Amino acid sequence: GYRSRSAYKLQQLDETASLFDRNDTVVDLGAAPGGWLQVAAEHVGAGGTVVGVDLQRIRDLDPEADDWGDGDVANVETIRGDMTEAKTQDRLRETIGERGADVVVSDMAPNMTGEYSLDHARSVHLARQAFEVALDLLTPGGDLVVKVFQGRDLEALQEDIEAEFEYVRVVSPPASRDSSSEVYLVAKGRMTAPVETGD
Ligand code: SAM
Repeated sequence: GYRSRSAYKLQQLDETASLFDRNDTVVDLGAAPGGWLQVAAEHVGAGGTVVGVDLQRIRDLDPEADDWGDGDVANVETIRGDMTEAKTQDRLRETIGERGADVVVSDMAPNMTGEYSLDHARSVHLARQAFEVALDLLTPGGDLVVKVFQGRDLEALQEDIEAEFEYVRVVSPPASRDSSSEVYLVAKGRMTAPVETGD
């Protein structure tokens, strides 16, 4: 089975927006305990690659022990680190390599304080981090999915993402409607190639 109920959200997002193709390379930010990794690994299949990053250690994904997938699942690599830190971003970039990523998904969420405007601001900060990683790693035509708590800074974030992708939709998957104010920005079709630094 899946390691998290969140797995069903990613299933629904993929059904809505057809995110994954076979053999894709996928980056999953805020990946622990690994439900989204399982869903992505099934969709891209054994020819694909999925790289998960989280502050928490992610237990190795074993289709047999965890009883999921049908054997045709991607190689999954995990990185333990803070995505707001340059050293974690560097490790991710090295792991992905020259080929770049076809899809970046982020389910990162801050520790909740219960103070709504603070939780919203922290969520937007993490979402912007995911957006920057997407600009760094996504191939042209690639897709980004990012979780964010609704609030006053959502619109500006959405506009910034819209400038870089063919279109952006705000999606609230049925599996997340019971809980809270979270939505997912689904950005399809990255419009330009990653910027070459030249050195
Ligand atoms: N999608 C996951 C799944 O299906 O198993 C669930 C993700 S959970 C809702 C959010 C995760 O974001 C937590 O595991 C948390 O540790 C991680 N997170 C929050 N801030 C982070 C950061 N700065 N860098 C990396 N991971 C972070």
